[in-house]
Amino acid sequence: MFVRRIAVIGTGYVGLTTGACLASLGHDVVCADVDADKVKRLERGEVDILEPGLAELVAEGIAAGRLTFVLGAAKAVQHTELGPEVVFLCVPTPMGVGGVADLSIVESVIEEVRDLLPTGAVVVNKSTVPVGTAERTEELLVRDDVAVVSNPEFLREGSAVYDFLNPDRIVVGGSKQDAAERVAALYAKLGAPTVLTDAPSAELVKYAANCFLAMKLSYVNAVAELCDRLGADISDVTEGMGYDKRIGQAFLNPGPGWGGSCLPKDTSAMLQLADAADFEFRLIRATIDTNTRQRLRMVEKVRHAVTGKRGGSLSHVKIGILGLTFKAGTDDLRDSPALAVAALLRQAGAELVGYDPALKPGVQHPELAPVRVVGDPYEAAEEAEALIVLTEWPEFRSLDWNRLADAVRKPIVVDTRNLLDPAVARRAGFEWIGVGKN
Ligand code: NAD
Repeated sequence: MFVRRIAVIGTGYVGLTTGACLASLGHDVVCADVDADKVKRLERGEVDILEPGLAELVAEGIAAGRLTFVLGAAKAVQHTELGPEVVFLCVPTPMGVGGVADLSIVESVIEEVRDLLPTGAVVVNKSTVPVGTAERTEELLVRDDVAVVSNPEFLREGSAVYDFLNPDRIVVGGSKQDAAERVAALYAKLGAPTVLTDAPSAELVKYAANCFLAMKLSYVNAVAELCDRLGADISDVTEGMGYDKRIGQAFLNPGPGWGGSCLPKDTSAMLQLADAADFEFRLIRATIDTNTRQRLRMVEKVRHAVTGKRGGSLSHVKIGILGLTFKAGTDDLRDSPALAVAALLRQAGAELVGYDPALKPGVQHPELAPVRVVGDPYEAAEEAEALIVLTEWPEFRSLDWNRLADAVRKPIVVDTRNLLDPAVARRAGFEWIGVGKN
């Protein structure tokens, strides 16, 4: 195996995982970030995101001398005398004005490293970027001796290391075949199917995949609404659907709406991408609209359960929230559907106390503002007129539901994830309200 000199720019979920995993595969990796405190912590081997196995891999990489951390992209590129052979861009591409992907960080990094890259280097875009970004990167670089390759990342938060090392596929695209093959070779040990293509196709794979997942979730949420109306059971319906190999069981659970740091921005960016190509992508528009409606529907479930009527007032009604992160197994709050529903409940006048196994009481985060975070689920339930399960943490199933029933003012639980065993909640005296099932 060739040991490559690799620079990774951005040490978030994608960058840190990429850097630590490539070091574990034997490469020499330097990771850069603009956050000076984060770099200092990483130099000491401190990982501040909740990702199984990541801290261990970082510690191993540092100990083996294969993983280093520096402040700023320029330093990463100048870290060794010969410079990096491959530079991975893993920086944020947030939702910008009008829903387009904001590429300003990607572009600023390219400008920062442009004149420092050694001849023959390959710049790899791992951030999720719209079609045309590889071409734009080439224009910004103005370097015929440097290749640009698109290599979208598909890892899931909560299992980032596992997903990186056990990928379903590797997608690499670029106009220079040898550069694309060199990037694909970095993953050769992983034995995953590899799609070698042009840059626009590689860039589109990521959006097409994420939008498909969002569409699947919106579809299931819509079917769950139909189940609510028709008296069918969504769990049985999705089980029956999922045995069909063309459909599969994954991503068939209804919930409070999808969210997280990827699906909302990527569906919006895809709409804008289509719009710019003069194509009205109605399926994606409907996917987003269905999601907005799903969040509102969860609030209506609470309102109806607490007040006994549609349009009843939630003013000063105390609601206990179980789960705030965007999904179980992560401490990421970015675009969390739980917080979106919490914001709607707050707008309706409710007072919110929340518990999440991944969050410490008093944790500060702008999107947490409507919720008082406590460190104990029973404290969140005290005097509540309803509980609402918003994140699918498995441990909520084994809470002491009798103790919760004693703590609340009204024994109502709206289970937006169909997570609990309704029989257990009901035995404890709760009115259990699920999504698409009775
Ligand atoms: P993140 O916010 O967790 O991490 C980004 C890191 O980049 C931060 O540490 C930030 O300080 C750093 N950074 C910002 N500007 C920088 C600069 N100029 N130079 C160096 N570092 C800089 O983001 P993420 O979740 O890792 O996502 C990165 C990209 O990967 C996005 O495009 C995202 O859509 C995509 N992606 C994310 C996931 C995921 O599950 N999070 C999965 C696949 C793809």
